[in-house]
Amino acid sequence: ERLVSCTREGDTVARLGGDEFVVLLPGLGNTQQAARLAGEMLGLLAEPFIIEGSSNYVGASIGVAIFPDDGSLASELLKKADMAMYRAKATGRGRIIFFEENMNVVQQEQSVLERELRLAITRGQFSLRYQPRIRLSDGKLSGAEALLRWQHQELGWVGPEKFIPLAEEVGLIDEIGAWVLRHVCAQLGQWQTAGYRITLSVNVSGRQLRSGRLGQLVQQALTESGVVPAALELEVTEGTLIDNIEEVGEQLGQIKQTGVGIALDDFGTGYSSLSYLQRLPIDILKIDRSFIRELGRSDGAGSIVHSIIALAHALGKTVVAEGVERQDQVELLRIWQCEQA
Ligand code: MG
Ligand code: MG
Repeated sequence: ERLVSCTREGDTVARLGGDEFVVLLPGLGNTQQAARLAGEMLGLLAEPFIIEGSSNYVGASIGVAIFPDDGSLASELLKKADMAMYRAKATGRGRIIFFEENMNVVQQEQSVLERELRLAITRGQFSLRYQPRIRLSDGKLSGAEALLRWQHQELGWVGPEKFIPLAEEVGLIDEIGAWVLRHVCAQLGQWQTAGYRITLSVNVSGRQLRSGRLGQLVQQALTESGVVPAALELEVTEGTLIDNIEEVGEQLGQIKQTGVGIALDDFGTGYSSLSYLQRLPIDILKIDRSFIRELGRSDGAGSIVHSIIALAHALGKTVVAEGVERQDQVELLRIWQCEQA
């Protein structure tokens, strides 16, 4: 109804399926008109939807393709509008993006990357790096965060910010996630045998949680390696939780019951919702590096970090400060009784 309300007589509004809609605007005088109508649509969709008395927010991302510049066939126009929409989503949602020829190039690059990513595991191109975690009370190593790296023969190092979203999109994330869990647990087993009493943490993505197989994969990796669950931690970001807090919360709760630790990653950059802290089965709060970087340089950052630590402690959670690189940061964090860096 909202989409129809901002179209003109003779325009078409259709639902393609799922949460995708198509609006056909024949006989536009100029492309600015499409931008204007799309802008109105965004505005209307940004208004809350009242369902059973509570406000729900959805928003939208809009991709635009223009006949005949972008194509003369319906299928072509739809494909290009779709590409533009994905770009709109990727650049931060709530945007309108017009199709551009270079998106075709990007699309082709993506196909190459996808093909290569499918082969990366069997070709042994993945490896793990470990970012150490230090206990602030005694300066000893308490654990590490496992970071996945992909080195391709011709493409070189491909950053995770590039291949993780792609892996999610094309359905490879479960396979890659399982590989990571297996290798991290095997490494953990070796280090523990060597006498190191440490925990290792693994980042998990939203798609992994939504697939419903995460608990099983974690269990498998633990059993194979003989590592105790308490030595493993999963890191989730708020972005992961936002879409489906009930379901994700339940899954995390089940995993936590087996003894595996759950950490909320990059806290402070997303919604920083205090209700999550209370509602989700989180043991550890990781304060994002952007606040830690400013410690001792801006009073604001200090107050925020100090308050987050106090709040987390009041809720019975352990705090990890991310990206600590200077001694003055360490000293402040020690005073505030932050557990780890
Ligand atoms: Mg992390
Ligand atoms: Mg982080």
